[in-house]
Amino acid sequence: MGLSAARPLLHLILKGRTNPDGQDSDHQTAQVAGKTGMADDANKVVILGSGPAGLTAALYTARANLAPLVVEGTSPGGQLTITTEVENYPGFEKGIQGPEMMEVFRRQAERFGTRFLSGEVSETRFDRRPFEILVDGAVVRAQSVIISTGASAKLLNLESEKRLMGYGVSACATCDGAFFKNKEVVVVGGGDTAMEEATFLTRFCTGVTVVHRRDSLRASKIMQDRAKKNPKIAFVWDSIVDEIHGEPKDGVHGVRLKNVKTGATREFKTNGVFMAIGHQPNTTVFKGLLEMDDLGYLKVRPGSTYTNIEGVFAAGDVADRIYRQAVTAAGTGCMAAIDAERWLEAQNAG
Ligand code: NDP
Repeated sequence: MGLSAARPLLHLILKGRTNPDGQDSDHQTAQVAGKTGMADDANKVVILGSGPAGLTAALYTARANLAPLVVEGTSPGGQLTITTEVENYPGFEKGIQGPEMMEVFRRQAERFGTRFLSGEVSETRFDRRPFEILVDGAVVRAQSVIISTGASAKLLNLESEKRLMGYGVSACATCDGAFFKNKEVVVVGGGDTAMEEATFLTRFCTGVTVVHRRDSLRASKIMQDRAKKNPKIAFVWDSIVDEIHGEPKDGVHGVRLKNVKTGATREFKTNGVFMAIGHQPNTTVFKGLLEMDDLGYLKVRPGSTYTNIEGVFAAGDVADRIYRQAVTAAGTGCMAAIDAERWLEAQNAG
């Protein structure tokens, strides 16, 4: 199975930095206007993120003649563009490749007048009207904002993990699995992502060892069964990876495993390590501005996409710690578009 519609959906790299080169902001606004073809007045709707939530919000607001501007981020289309087959998005009876699906989403939004801008959001100023969003140092003005910045893969925070990321350590089997042809790899985690990644990696690898910190999996029964039945997949229970051995020049050659019950450690040979321990919402840039839960997911008024700031809406994984599916992201993207449209209408009527 190659489900990927459950994966985190975004991709803007959100950095807490200010205008990097100190350029005059009016000059930069003019540059953005030039790039996107918009006049130098505020956009009615600016959408941050271009996964299923953002592009559905774009489709709906474009069809409402609001000429949305989508800030795509550095990986347009979000994480579905780095995955394989999506089997659980309704309407695609035989499944569809993630990148192709996002291309369809994009074209559909574009057809009704959505504009796109790539770049990183470094700052949002929600304390003024119109709102201001800094994208690669340029100011984008917005009457309303829909945040659909998704969530990103969590890491173990080991120094060796950081040093070897891209050199034998990965957080995306779909992206990097093919580099491990006829190799042995470790997958860390016990959820659906870990089962999916482990199963996918058996296409290339001679063996996959799932290292899980407990003695039972969190993954759904069907995913567990599929992994457990696969003769290439082995499990190490009650254990964590507490060190990864290797050098960027020749990759990973092993890990140190620690049994969390006994405290015992042992060395384990492997050629690669895939992290599959969940995700965190991409909300750093909104800290102190928007209400978040304990994990950093944006809070919305129940049954709506309203955040605590009037005119700022949230959709998709960035505000959803529970479901995190492409279809639920698209659904809330639609809700955000309708909420924004009605909110703008009320502002103009008032
Ligand atoms: P989950 O949060 O479900 O699972 C994370 C796993 O990583 C857990 O087993 C957790 O252990 C473990 N973990 C977390 N932090 C650490 C750490 N620091 N060290 C070691 N282990 C750690 O995330 P997933 O990404 O797996 O799934 C997210 C959502 O997406 C779920 O709702 C899932 O159902 C869905 N999904 C569905 C798929 C499908 O239907 N095909 C495919 C992929 C995802 P513990 O169990 O002890 O907490």
